[in-house]
Amino acid sequence: MNRKYITLLLAVLLAAVGSFAQQPTAQPELSVARLQQHISYLASDALDGRRTGTQGANDAAHYIAGEFSRLGLRPAIQRAGASRRLSVAMTQYLQSFPYVAGVTLGPGNMLSLGDRNFTVGQDWTPLGFSSNSRVENTAITFVGYGITASELNYDDYADKRTSGKIALALAGTPDGDNPHGQYARYEAVRWKAIAAKNAGAKALLIVTREAKLIDDRLANLTYDNSAGDAGLPVVVISQDLIGGKATFERLEEGAKKRQYVFDENSTASLTTDLVRQEVQAYNVIGVLEGSDRLLKSEAIIVGAHYDHLGRGGEGSLAPRSGEIHHGADDNASGTAGVLELARLFTSERPRPKRTIVFICFSGEEEGLLGSSYYVNHPIVPLGNTVAMINMDMIGRMKARKLIVGGVGTANEWRELVRSGTIAQAQAVTDTVTSSTTTTNLGEIPAVFPTNGRIITKTFDLTLQEDGYGPSDHSSFYSKHIPVLFFWTGTHNDYHKPSDTFDKINYEGELRVLSLVARIIRDLDNADKRLTYTVAKSDPQQGRSTGFRVYLGTIPNYSDSNDGLLLDGVRDDSPAAKAGLKAGDRVVKIGTREIKNVYDYTYALGEMKAGEEYVIEVMRAGEKLSLKIKPEARK
Ligand SMILES: [Zn+2]
Repeated sequence: MNRKYITLLLAVLLAAVGSFAQQPTAQPELSVARLQQHISYLASDALDGRRTGTQGANDAAHYIAGEFSRLGLRPAIQRAGASRRLSVAMTQYLQSFPYVAGVTLGPGNMLSLGDRNFTVGQDWTPLGFSSNSRVENTAITFVGYGITASELNYDDYADKRTSGKIALALAGTPDGDNPHGQYARYEAVRWKAIAAKNAGAKALLIVTREAKLIDDRLANLTYDNSAGDAGLPVVVISQDLIGGKATFERLEEGAKKRQYVFDENSTASLTTDLVRQEVQAYNVIGVLEGSDRLLKSEAIIVGAHYDHLGRGGEGSLAPRSGEIHHGADDNASGTAGVLELARLFTSERPRPKRTIVFICFSGEEEGLLGSSYYVNHPIVPLGNTVAMINMDMIGRMKARKLIVGGVGTANEWRELVRSGTIAQAQAVTDTVTSSTTTTNLGEIPAVFPTNGRIITKTFDLTLQEDGYGPSDHSSFYSKHIPVLFFWTGTHNDYHKPSDTFDKINYEGELRVLSLVARIIRDLDNADKRLTYTVAKSDPQQGRSTGFRVYLGTIPNYSDSNDGLLLDGVRDDSPAAKAGLKAGDRVVKIGTREIKNVYDYTYALGEMKAGEEYVIEVMRAGEKLSLKIKPEARK
C-alpha cells in the first residue's frame, strides 16, 4: 500500500466524518480532565472551604460566573451597581441574598453581680443567639442545669420560682458529658434558653464547666442563621463569678439532688449588645434559552450547591475547628457537574427546545438558604419550571452505587431513569469491547453475555421516592416541582477537612453526569411536561430527630423570628388532617409560643401521641386555630 493511496483513503474518510458531523452522534463529550480542573480549584486551600458569606465562597461564585460567561450562558440578573470586587458582567450571574456572616460584641455590654462589675469577653460573654436587651437589678435564682424534659419527668423549673427573675444554670446535664446519656439532647444552650423563656425568666446566665471562660467552647461567638434570637438575653459566665470551682461543685451536687441552694439575695444587672454582620451571599445563575418558539417558556433547572463549611464550626464533624474543610465531594463535585453539563448543552446540536437554567446555590450547609431564596425569587416562573435536577456529592462512587432520590415526584421519573441507565450500559459495553482487553471486565460487576453481546451493569441503583431530603431539591419539591436528586453516598471524609480532590472518583462522576445528561435530553424531547405526583415519604427520614411523635410538617430552616414557616405538609399526615398547608406560619402549639425552628422542635419534644393540641397558624394575614393529633413515630 503506497502513501498516495493512504492519503486518498484518509480524504474519503474525513469527508465521511464531515458528513456525519451533522448527526447528533458527533456530540461534544463530558471530560474527566475538566472535572479535575474544576474540583481541584474549588476544593483548593485558596478558597478556604467556601463558607457562605466569606471571601472563599465569593471567589468560587466568581469562578462559576466566569465559566457561565465563557460558555455564553445568558446572565439572569439585571444589576445597576456592581460590587467592588467583581466586574459588572460577572455580577449579572449573581443572585444575592442577605446572610448573617457572624456576630461581634457591641460597645454596650455590661454585667454586674451585686456591686461587682465584670469584663465582657474575659469574665462573661453573650451567646451569639442572645437577644439585645437590658435587665436591671433583678433577683437571681439557681435552676440547676436549667432543663425541662417532660418525657423524662425532669423539670428544673418545676417549683415556678423563676418568673420575672434571672435564671442561673450550670452548663451540661445530670449525666455529665455523656453524649449518649438520656439528657444529651437537652444540653444544647438553645434548648436551655427556650426552657428559661418558657418559665418566664428575664435572662439566663450559664456557668461554664471549664474553670476559665476562654477555655470553654461556649465562649466562641457563633451565629447559626437558622433561627432568630432567643427572645431573652443568654450569657455564659466564668466559674470565678460565683466563687470558683468549689462553689460550682457544691451547686452541681445540689443540682443532682434537685436542691437549688444558692445565695437567693443576690441580684444582677445585665445589658447585652451584639452586632450581627449582615453580608450578601450569592446563587450563581446562567440561562441557556430554549430553541423552540413555544417550549422555551418551560425551564429545566440543573443545580448543585457550591458552598461548604469553611474552617469547620457548625456542621463540621472534625474533632476541632480551624482546619480548611475542602468539600471536594461536598459539593465541588456537583458544582463541577453543573459546569460540565452547561458546557455540554451549550455546544450540543440541535439545541435543547426548552430553556435550561443552571444554578449553583450558596447557603446550603446552613439550611438550604440559597435554594429557599431562589424559589421565592425565581428567574423563570415556578409554574413554568418543569423539573429540578440536583447533584449533591456525586464524586465518591464505590462499587457503582448510585442513589437517585425524588423518583416519586413525577409519574415519568422511574421510566426515564430506567431507560437512561440501560442506554448508558450499552455505551459502556461499546467502550469495553473496543478496548479488547477482557481483563478490564473483571472490575465491572454483573457482566453477562446476551446474544453474543456483553451487557454491563453501569450502576447499582438505589431509587428513593421522596422529594424532600437534605439538599436543595427539597426547596423545589416544596413548591410542587418534580425533582431528581443524584448522590453517590456518604463516606468517612464527609464534613471533614479530609474531603479532598484527590479522593474523587472522576470516572464514576463522569458516568453519573452522562446519565443526568441523557435524562435532561429525554425531558427536553418529550412533547408533554412531567406529571407532578406527591411522593411517599422516606421512612428513614426524621428518624434521627429522636422524637416520639410525628406531625408530617416540613419546616423552613431559613432565618425568621415570627413563627415557623412550613415548606410543606405530607399527605395523610396529622398535619394534613389538621388542615395545615404549605406557606402557613406556626405561631403557637398548645401553650407554647413558636418563634422559630428551635421553639417548634422543643414543642414537638413535649407532645404526646394521640392527644389533641391546638395549633395556631398565620395564613394570608389571618390567625387560624386548628386541632392536631400527633401520631406515634414508627
Ligand atoms: Zn454538606
